[in-house]
Amino acid sequence: MNPEQHKKTQVTLAYFLISMLILFGLQWFFLVGASVEIPYSDFKTYLEKGMIKEVVISDTVIKGLMQDPTGKSDKPVPFTTNRIQDPDLVKELEAKHVKFTGKPANSFLSNLLSWIIPIIIMIAIWNYMVYKMGMGGPGVMKVGQSKARLISADDNAKKITFKDVAGIDEAKEELKEVVDFLKEPRRFESLGGRIPRGILLVGAPGTGKTLLAKAVAGEAGVPFFSISGSEFVEMFVGVGAARVRDLFTQATAKAPCIIFIDELDALGKARGFNPIGGHDEREQTLNQLLVEMDGFDTKKGVIIMGATNRPEILDPALLRPGRFDRQIVVDKPDLKGREEILKIHAKDVKIAKDVDFHMLAARTPGFVGADLANIVNEAALLAARRRKNEVTMAEFDEAIERVVAGLEKKKRLISPKEKEIVAYHESGHAIVAGELPNTDVVQKISIVPRGIAALGYTLQLPTEDRYLMTKSELEDRLAVLLGGRAAEEIFFSDISTGAQNDLQRATDIARSMVKEYGMSEKLGLLVYERPRNPFLKGDNWQPTEKEYSEEIAALIDSEVKRIVDEAYERSRKIITEKKKTVEKLAKLLLEKEVVEREEFLEITGKKTAEKNP
Ligand code: ADP
Ligand code: MG
Ligand code: ZN
Repeated sequence: MNPEQHKKTQVTLAYFLISMLILFGLQWFFLVGASVEIPYSDFKTYLEKGMIKEVVISDTVIKGLMQDPTGKSDKPVPFTTNRIQDPDLVKELEAKHVKFTGKPANSFLSNLLSWIIPIIIMIAIWNYMVYKMGMGGPGVMKVGQSKARLISADDNAKKITFKDVAGIDEAKEELKEVVDFLKEPRRFESLGGRIPRGILLVGAPGTGKTLLAKAVAGEAGVPFFSISGSEFVEMFVGVGAARVRDLFTQATAKAPCIIFIDELDALGKARGFNPIGGHDEREQTLNQLLVEMDGFDTKKGVIIMGATNRPEILDPALLRPGRFDRQIVVDKPDLKGREEILKIHAKDVKIAKDVDFHMLAARTPGFVGADLANIVNEAALLAARRRKNEVTMAEFDEAIERVVAGLEKKKRLISPKEKEIVAYHESGHAIVAGELPNTDVVQKISIVPRGIAALGYTLQLPTEDRYLMTKSELEDRLAVLLGGRAAEEIFFSDISTGAQNDLQRATDIARSMVKEYGMSEKLGLLVYERPRNPFLKGDNWQPTEKEYSEEIAALIDSEVKRIVDEAYERSRKIITEKKKTVEKLAKLLLEKEVVEREEFLEITGKKTAEKNP
């Protein structure tokens, strides 16, 4: 919140308090009047002295006029006193010739005064608030106005550009297109190209999603509305929706521009059945966002960007065509990327000559941009504390240790030994895939850890759409899956838990071959398992009953085992034959962390005879 906004909120609050005070004041005035309250005993004394002029007696109070007891003025003063049980009062009043009237407890007037007027005032205030919310214009009640921070085009002071972002080149490349569009919307328009409406940046926390979005705005030189998803979700139903509306109105007026919704998951969580019936507000806000995204005109040049680290919980409606239909993955940086990020952040720091960024990058596998920025900052702080005038390798060493210690609590980091195992494991997958004829092309091999489960991966892309798979293809796939484990066994004569997911998938495939696809001669063409429909899981859903005997069950198990074992043998054979190549690939992986298709083909000597060009 910028200072100006802050002030406005305070003013809003002050207005609210003042109107409440006035309300109470009015009520007090009407009900009690500006009269003095006197004890009943005084009232009786004044009555005795003949100072009481007239009274109105109601159930609980006696009001009236009396001579000023202080004697300062001749004008009679109004008074009130609480009525108590006093049967002789009427007689005494008559005796003193005081004019008196009775008053029913709930006269029309007191009704009106005591609650109808406050209600009318309340309604008036409420209407005013709603009106202001709807308008979102400048005014007292700014509840419905979007809290988006606007970074305008000429805000050059701290302009972030693509130069400030490193290590996520693929995402950057894709966003350059968006920048081109924002710079010259008209050119794209005349060509009739469809410009993406919504772009979703997906990646682990700290990989630079927010930074990237700002860089797009900086590069394109257009206004940038930035808001966090959680800022939409408020206590009052309807406020969030009003904010969304306001945001889009503002943005359309400033087009071409970018709307950036950070932490989209806070707002876009899948709508679902809610037993308590809460979260209406979030749902309404989400609906409003969907409506706005559908409704506005891309030609105007408003691009919506979102960022999330949990795309899986987003409402599917958000990802439909015309909404956030373009998704850009922001990966964790590889070795080279980390080195570049470190250099970017070291730009404004005095660095000693002995600092080797390449080495620092090598020691920080799995670190994201934010962690690396943190390391540089820590190192600079340490140097300052030690009264050095430049940051040396010693400070960096310590900074890494500190950051690692902090990270170890939060997430798993891999040790050099583990990294080596992963490198050989992935090389095993890749080499087997490269050797066998019926497998998908190896696109990329990476040992940059991606999550809790995957320490590395070998990306294989099918060259065509697949609807059928032959037996030999399945067998080859099994061999590839087991290649990681085989490599570990051959090179380390020890095995790790890293192959668990591979083994799981291999077992599933082998089991399906036996039970569903009739690919085992011993079991023949019978189907031993019907496909289940998970959507039909009702209350009385049960796993399919076994339709076969115990002997068959044993046979199935032995056949599954045989298939997996055979595949593993093939895998082992290939890796033993190509031991040198596996080693070369693993070394390259350890050095670069990511090996692309080209280099892979070079290593395996298949550059010329490339299959499936
Ligand atoms: P995210 O939004 O993905 O959680 P941020 O964009 O907020 O991550 O990153 C936090 C900080 O970390 C950035 O302000 C920047 O200083 C640093 N950072 C993260 N990724 C990068 C990167 N790829 N290049 C340079 N700096 C980065
Ligand atoms: Mg962020
Ligand atoms: Zn594996």
